[in-house]
Parts: sequence; C-alpha cells; structure tokens
Amino acid sequence: MTHTSRPFSLLPILVLVALAGTTIAAAPPPTSRLVTFPNPGPDVLADMAGHGWDIWEVTPDRVTALLTPDQVATLQMQQVAVNVLDNAPQYMVNFPACFRTFDAAVTQMRDWAERYPGLVELIDAGPSWQTAQGQADRRLWTLRITNKANVEPKPQLLLVALHHAREIVTPEVALNLAELLLTSYGHDADITWLVDNRDIWIIPFVNPDGHLYAEYSVDWRKNANNSQSTCATSSPPNSFGVDLNRNYDHKWATVGASSNPCNLTYRGRAAFSEPETQAIRDLVQNQKFNLVISLHSFSDLIMYPWGYTYAPAPDDIGLRNIASVLATFNGYTPEQSSDLYPTSGDTCDWAYGVQGIPCFTVEIGSGAVDNYFWPDCATAHEQWLENRDALLHAIKLASAPYRLAAAPLVRDLQVRQRGRFMTVHTVLDRQATSPEPPAGGEVFVDRIGIPGTGILLTPDDQTLDTPVESMSATVDLSGVQGRHVVYVAGIDDSGRHGPPAAAYFEPCPDVTGDAVINVIDVMELAARWHTQAGDLDYDAALDLDGDGLIDVQDIGQMSAFWGLVCAGSLP
Ligand SMILES: [Zn+2]
Repeated sequence: MTHTSRPFSLLPILVLVALAGTTIAAAPPPTSRLVTFPNPGPDVLADMAGHGWDIWEVTPDRVTALLTPDQVATLQMQQVAVNVLDNAPQYMVNFPACFRTFDAAVTQMRDWAERYPGLVELIDAGPSWQTAQGQADRRLWTLRITNKANVEPKPQLLLVALHHAREIVTPEVALNLAELLLTSYGHDADITWLVDNRDIWIIPFVNPDGHLYAEYSVDWRKNANNSQSTCATSSPPNSFGVDLNRNYDHKWATVGASSNPCNLTYRGRAAFSEPETQAIRDLVQNQKFNLVISLHSFSDLIMYPWGYTYAPAPDDIGLRNIASVLATFNGYTPEQSSDLYPTSGDTCDWAYGVQGIPCFTVEIGSGAVDNYFWPDCATAHEQWLENRDALLHAIKLASAPYRLAAAPLVRDLQVRQRGRFMTVHTVLDRQATSPEPPAGGEVFVDRIGIPGTGILLTPDDQTLDTPVESMSATVDLSGVQGRHVVYVAGIDDSGRHGPPAAAYFEPCPDVTGDAVINVIDVMELAARWHTQAGDLDYDAALDLDGDGLIDVQDIGQMSAFWGLVCAGSLP
C-alpha cells in the first residue's frame, strides 16, 4: 500500500471547508444519528431510499441507517423500535493516511504506465462534474491492462470503483488489483496468463470530485453537481449532488431513487445527466466488455441484476452461478440486488439490461466491525486480500462468464517433483453451482490444448463422485529444461474446459527429498545402477532420460543440476 501525506491535517467535525468553490459541511451533521431498526421489508425500504434516507446496511432482520431527527421521529410515530447506537456518532469519518488521495493515485497510475509500457495504458475516460464545469481537473482515469504484444482480440473485463464517494476502500482495492497484475507479470504464472489473455479495464475513481470530499473527512456519497441546488438548508445540510449509481438509463427514476436534488439518492434530472456516468456509458458502448464489476462498500455481498424489480433476470441462474463462484473466494453472500430493496438506475441494471453484459455489484466490508465506510489501514488491507482472488477469478471468467462459472474451477494447484516425474496436485471444485462431480480435468505444459489432449487428472480417492475432488496427474519431465508453465483445466459437462489455473515449474530431479541435488542423489542412483524397466528394483523416477535403463546418461543429467535447490520436491 502506498503511503501518501495529505495536504492538511484532519479537519474538526462541522468546520466548513471550501473545495473547488463549493462550501460543504464536514459531516456528519450533529443532529443525525446512526440507528438500527427492524427490517420493514423491501417495499418500505425502497420508499425510504426514494426519499433519500441514508441506509447503510440491510440484513434480513435489521437496517442500519444514519437518520435525521425528523426521520427518527417518523419511525417512532409508526411505533418502530429505533435503536440509537449512541448520542455521539459511533463511527469516525476518517480518511486514513495510508489510503491514496486521488492525486497520489493519478501520479501512481502515470508511473505504472511509464514503467510497464507493454502491459498498461492510462486512458482518460472523461471528466468529473467539476472538471466539466471548468472548476477542476479531475478525470476518470482508466487503466487498460493487457499484454500488448498479444494483439488478437481478448475477452474484456471492466472494473469500476467509487461511484459513491465515501466508499473509500473501493479505489484502494481497484488500485491494488492493478498493481498486482502489473508487478506479478512474469512472476506468477496465473496472473501472467490473465494479462496475456484478457483485456482488463480498471476505473478506480468514477467519482473523483466526491473522493476529494472524502479525503477531507466529509461523509459524502454523490458527485459534486450543485447546479440544481446547493441544498444549504436541507436536512442534512449541503447535501447536493447526483447519486451516480441511480443515474444510469435502465428503468431510470422508477424506484428507490429520489427526485429531490438534496436527497442522498438523487437520480439526476435525466438519465445519464452526469459526465461521470456518460463516461462509463461511452466506454461500455465503444468496447465489448464481457463482464462488469462495480465495487461498493459495505455489507459483504455480491449482487446481480435486477435491482429495479423483484422479478428474476432472464439469465437469473447464470448470474447467480457467477456470483456464487466469486463468493467462494471472498465468502460474501450472493443475491439479487433487489433482495435488499429495489433501486433503479444503477450500473449493473444498465450494463445487463441494455448492453447484455453480466454485471455484479460487490459490497466490500462487514459494517460496524470494519468501521462502516471508513476501515482503518489494516482492515482495508484485509478487505483487499479477501477480494483479491474473487476479482482475479472474475477476470478469468470473462471469456464466457455463464458457461465458465458452471464449470469446475481449479484451486490449490501444487506441483512436486521426484526425479524425472512431476506430480500435479489440485482440487477441482464445482460445488458453488452444482451437486454433481466435475466431469474431469487435465494438465498441459506451456500451452493449453483442446479438451482431451492433455494429461488426465485422476481422483486421489479413485472415484469422481463429489462436487469437490482432489486430483493428481504425473508429468514426465525427461528432456525438459528451464522454466515452464503447467496449466490445469477442469472439464465441464459439455466436454469443454473450465477456467484454467497455472503454475511455473523448473525441472529439479531431486530424488532423496532434501530439495537439493547433491552426492546423496547420485548415490541413490548408483544403488540402482544398470537396473532396467521391469526389474524389481528399477525406479522409473531415477531414470532421468526415460530410456528404460539407469546408467551413466542419468548420472550425467543429474550432474547438470548439481547444487540446485529445488522448490517443491516430494518429501
Ligand atoms: Zn455504493
């Protein structure tokens, strides 16, 4: 994580700060209270959201919200048991020093573009609202990550973060993912394969104006558009702006979004009225994204369309499969967006409903224990780590999301060597989407061939009868030198490959299990001197050249590795 210094120390709550010509209050307003109350059901919640209530978290039993005194009174008048968490705010609106400011992140993105010119391009997807007004220079900087040397068209994934300004962990996660892809290229076989075979677009800050408010420890959700009203006397005060995640053009202005510019869920005066959502729209229309992920916080959820209706989407099973598979990596709950309460005009309803792209909203973080929208440095790092493999897997799925999500995934890939043989151990897992066992799996070296042409994996318990199976295969390394890649792919019910996993290996013919090639290995070999295939004490692993005879050729091969320390030899 990059450490950046902020230009000013934390401003005390309620101090008015002037940002780019706009006066806003450092939130929270003193009279608002963080409360919980029993979940009144999605229809009532949609109505509350439609009136701009600041709903933070919805569980089946309970709603957490930051409410004004009027809103609290409304609930109490209806005999709702409101639990005020404290007289003082329970949370701290705090922009941690270890989080990147927008400016620091842009500097870092430029630096990556310079340092990894073959892998990443920095693209300006469009201006923020203040930028479009000539008040600032903040753009929706977009990292396009792919191995440019592979020029054929690749499946595309779009990852967007920070529609909502206070969800400050989301750009951190997006930036960490970008950094991981770039710095691991050539060092991690799995990530190298992704960068070689995918076209990954990452927009860490969809709402850079709002992020600036967050950097000043302001509890801010919307963009900075104050052209309708500055909302100076609204409750809460100064709550201007458009909720960018209610501004997309699919069933816009139907449910769970407000028509009042001072409400937190203000949908804008028209669909795509805001430069930020226009930028996303134009990018999606000009590319061919196969999968879209939108990062939000918090609630530990992976949500899929629809948001505007309780009705299932046409691809409901496929969408749920993808969400369920991603959830196996981060432990979040997969559910339809409207399960919380219906909302309209969000990124995913538009991406799926209008563009036909499977799209997922990931709500990062656990709420109170993670300090709501403002996790500290250590918590933010945990939130990144818990989402890392889910996001990498999403990139993998991009070539055929619906089909690949239903195929067995490959996890816990390990390679171990003894002498001439490498054993590939892995787990094929399809339990997120099916109670059936995987159809099989196979191993390839250096290049993934067509299904049926690899080295077959066999189940360690001899029977392929459960949705999660430990599998192994043996690869003959005679004649192989230098670093190579082993790929493993499961096989789905239609006989096609699932998403692959990859690992680097380098032949290292240790035979004694001490992970170093030395005189003991030679003695082991000498003990089998001139035995041949079929002999009782012939050990094929020691027959390094695989010619069926243990002799001076094998000693010669072993000597070539003299002194080498192996990674991953069998004990
Ligand atoms: Zn959000």
